[in-house]
Amino acid sequence: MAGTLEWQLATVTAVRDETATVRTFTLGLPAWQGHRPGQHVDVRLTAADGYSVERSYSIASEPERAGAIDVTVERIPDGEVSPFLHDVVVPGDRLEVRGPIGGYFVWGASLGGPLLLVAGGSGVVPLMAMIRHRERAGRDVRTRLLFSSRHAEEIIYRAELDELAARNDGFEVVHTLTRSSPPGWTGYTRRIDERMLGEVLAPLGIGPRTYICGPTALVEVAANALVRLGLPPDRVRTERFGPTGT
Ligand SMILES: Cc1cc2nc3c(=O)[nH]c(=O)nc-3n(C[C@H](O)[C@H](O)[C@H](O)COP(=O)(O)OP(=O)(O)OC[C@H]3O[C@@H](n4cnc5c(N)ncnc54)[C@H](O)[C@@H]3O)c2cc1C
Repeated sequence: MAGTLEWQLATVTAVRDETATVRTFTLGLPAWQGHRPGQHVDVRLTAADGYSVERSYSIASEPERAGAIDVTVERIPDGEVSPFLHDVVVPGDRLEVRGPIGGYFVWGASLGGPLLLVAGGSGVVPLMAMIRHRERAGRDVRTRLLFSSRHAEEIIYRAELDELAARNDGFEVVHTLTRSSPPGWTGYTRRIDERMLGEVLAPLGIGPRTYICGPTALVEVAANALVRLGLPPDRVRTERFGPTGT
C-alpha cells in the first residue's frame, strides 16, 4: 500500500462531462489506501524535458468505492494544468497522483450532524464526497447544501443533486444563480449573503457542522456571516480554491 506522500500511477478509466467547462475523471488506483470525504489529491504532470507541475484536486467520490476515485476539474481557460486535463487526457492515460491529503476539511458519518454545506462553483467537489458518503453511510444526518453557480447550465452535478434531494431523506439543496436565471427559476438569484445564509441555516438550528468551499471571496463572506449568525467558529470549516489555495 502506497503512503499518502508517495506518487502513484493512476489510470484514467473514464472521463465524463459535468457541464461545458467541468469534467470528471475516474482514476483507477490499485494501491489506494482510502480517503475521508473532503480530502484532496495532488496531480503531477511531467513533460519530456523533465519540467513538472502539480495542482491539488478534491476527491469527489465517496470512500466506500474501492480502488478508484473521481476528481472533477473546472477548465480555467488560461491555466496550465486544467486545460491539459480537459483537452489532452483520455481514458487509458496515466497520471501521477499522491494523497489523500488534508485532515481538517473532512467529514465522516461518525461525526454526525446536522450538516450545512456551502459551495461556490467547483467548490462543490469536496462537499459532493460528503454528500455521497452521507447517502451510503449517514442517511440520518440532516444536510442542507447552499450552492452558488453563475448560470443554471453551470450547476455541477445538478441531476444527481436533484435526484438525491427528491428522496426526501433529510438532504436538501438550495441553489443561487448569480449571473442569469431561466424562466420559472424558484431559487435565489444573487450572491451568497448573510440574509440568505440565515434563511438556509434556520431549519438546522445554530449548531450544524459547516463546510464552506469555493473562491476566497465567497468563503470569507459566508464564514464571517455564519459566525455573526451565531455559529461557533470551531464548527465552521473552510477550504479555498485558487492558484495557491489562498
Ligand atoms: C485544496 C485544493 C483543492 C482543489 N480542488 C479543486 C477541484 O476539485 N476542482 C478544480 O477544478 N480545482 C480545484 N482546485 C484548484 C486547482 O488546484 C487549480 O488551481 C486549478 O485547476 C487551476 O490550475 P491551472 O494550472 O489550470 O491554472 P493556473 O495556471 O494555476 O492559473 C491560471 C490562471 O487562472 C487563475 N486561477 C487559478 N485557479 C483558479 C480557480 N480555481 N478559479 C479561477 N481562477 C483560477 C490564476 O490566478 C491564473 O490567472 C483546488 C485547489 C486547492 C488548493
